[in-house]
Amino acid sequence: MSNTTEFKNLLRGAEFLIKESNFQDLFTPADLDEEQQMILQATNDFLDNEVMPKRDKIEVQEEGVTTTLLEQAGELGLLGLAVPEEFGGMGKDFNTNSIVVEAMARARSFTLSWGAHVGIGSLPIVYFGNQEQKEKYLPKLASGELKAAYCLTEPGSGSDALGAKTRAHLSEDGKHYVLNGQKMWITNSGFADIFIVFAKIDGEKFTGFIVEKTMSGLSLGAEEKKMGIKGSSTRLVFLENVKVPVENLLGEPGKGHLIAFNILNIGRYKLAIGSLGAAKDALRQAAVYANERQQFKTPIANFGAIQYKLAEMAIQIYALESACYRASDKIDNYEKKLLSEGKDFSSAILGAADEYAIECAFLKVHGSEVLDYCVDEAVQIHGGMGFSEETQIAGAYRDARINRIFEGTNEINRLLTVDQLLKRAMSGKLDIMSAAMGVQKELMSIPNFGGGQDEGVLTNELNAVRNSKKAILLVAGAAAQKLMTKLKYEQEILMNIADMIIDVYAMESTVLRVQKKIANEGEEAAELEILIAKTFISDAVERLNINGKHALQSFAEGDELRMMLMGLKRYTKLEPFNTKNARRAVAAKISEEQAYCF
Ligand SMILES: Cc1cc2nc3c(=O)[nH]c(=O)nc-3n(C[C@H](O)[C@H](O)[C@H](O)COP(=O)(O)OP(=O)(O)OC[C@H]3O[C@@H](n4cnc5c(N)ncnc54)[C@H](O)[C@@H]3O)c2cc1C
Repeated sequence: MSNTTEFKNLLRGAEFLIKESNFQDLFTPADLDEEQQMILQATNDFLDNEVMPKRDKIEVQEEGVTTTLLEQAGELGLLGLAVPEEFGGMGKDFNTNSIVVEAMARARSFTLSWGAHVGIGSLPIVYFGNQEQKEKYLPKLASGELKAAYCLTEPGSGSDALGAKTRAHLSEDGKHYVLNGQKMWITNSGFADIFIVFAKIDGEKFTGFIVEKTMSGLSLGAEEKKMGIKGSSTRLVFLENVKVPVENLLGEPGKGHLIAFNILNIGRYKLAIGSLGAAKDALRQAAVYANERQQFKTPIANFGAIQYKLAEMAIQIYALESACYRASDKIDNYEKKLLSEGKDFSSAILGAADEYAIECAFLKVHGSEVLDYCVDEAVQIHGGMGFSEETQIAGAYRDARINRIFEGTNEINRLLTVDQLLKRAMSGKLDIMSAAMGVQKELMSIPNFGGGQDEGVLTNELNAVRNSKKAILLVAGAAAQKLMTKLKYEQEILMNIADMIIDVYAMESTVLRVQKKIANEGEEAAELEILIAKTFISDAVERLNINGKHALQSFAEGDELRMMLMGLKRYTKLEPFNTKNARRAVAAKISEEQAYCF
């Protein structure tokens, strides 16, 4: 859903770093329309009535349980949300897909099976399939009659996906490609009927293929013994002289990287919003337990140490939620913009995901790390019981860990964030260099100690967001200028810059959302959200300062370093604020509702 059919205010990918946003343009969970709420309700009913009661059976991979649930999800339309109606799907917009992914997340292992099927398994055909391939496969994928898996990773190539060794060569009669190789860690492989396989034609042209389970030569390894998400199927896939009809080549020969990387952009975003849903569920469990468990004759929720944890989880979730829905709506709107310009469905969504690839990459990092923080603190709140498989939180803790590893590890996504930013700058798509030079000029001038514009209760925080962007421009601009082509070998600096970008996006998304609530419902109604924003931003500017300092100290020295550190300090300054009291107020609300409730 979009708040506006006008696209003129639509910031392009990463433009938030150099431009201001208006809170009125922000999409938040409060903006769901009636249809989206109905779909959300149907998803939650399906989870409560069908999936959750079978959680134990899913966990031990009891034969047929996950596949039957997938078929039931298909009947409800939950496998075809992103599939166009003409191919048996529901053709829903990006925001609706986001909402469902978030809701689904609490089903853990089943969520992964579902997500791999509807995402990386089906989307390559939705976006890159030709008419015949779409007609043949999509209706059955949308109904659940066919289940899908995605085979990119190999024993020797994970992060370096294009280093794949799987080979394809055209048969003498020109009717088949013959595939040979091994794929590793393939989700859904134990029951999938369709495998999207990447192989290099003649050892060179990286290409996607639709491989059917029944094609002879495809076989599977045993189920991997995993740390978490034990209920999802993960196996090796062996390809030994598998004859794949030429009709099953996906996209164009040698263009498999377009499929792999574009699908990953969307996958990363979905992982972020899925992490949000899982983090909310961890907070719910922690809040329930903290109010139930008594020690020293009082519920542990009454202790400040526990209140800190409950509040901090809620604050981090709020910031992540604000960031995720903001990005979702940008992708949604950009897709609609491209459609209005005459692009077809696939080009529009792929163009939109590509436009916001930087946001997708850093939100993946942000989401998975907030989730890990939340499950860890939720286990801690459970004490010894958190270490017992009798509680759900122990499993949630183990299940969460994979999110920092797949869909591109968090290191790779941090690197991608800055790499793509610099590429955008070099190609002239994002004028970050002029903005960085503006910051350098400002630092040479006498600081303006004037009060600035009064923007109400969030004046300091709005200024902190503006200044934090300048801090990034200062650090990234100086690093690029100083190190030039050597910057890519200084990964520690790139990690610092990526972390600063994550914080600024979350800060701005949070403060815009609270501004919107104040405008719509008044300051009193937004009392707790104001405290959330102030606390998050108070901590975020400190992190920005540390990250900026680590980066600057890595490549500058002497007077130059001192001057830049002073500039950094100036841009990460904030009026002191009592975060302890703010967290206590937030924790009281979480305890009252026994769930995330903002
Ligand atoms: C449960 C599970 C399910 C999965 N499902 C699928 C699936 O359905 N389909 C599929 O194709 N794949 C799947 N994967 C594979 C997953 O995407 C890879 O594990 C992931 O991309 C990392 O690759 P790797 O394991 O080879 O780690 P490596 O690439 O070997 O990385 C090891 C470490 O080195 C770091 N590193 C690597 N390169 C760099 C670099 N250039 N700079 C800095 N650090 C670097 C990484 O960040 C990481 O910390 C799954 C994995 C698991 C565990």
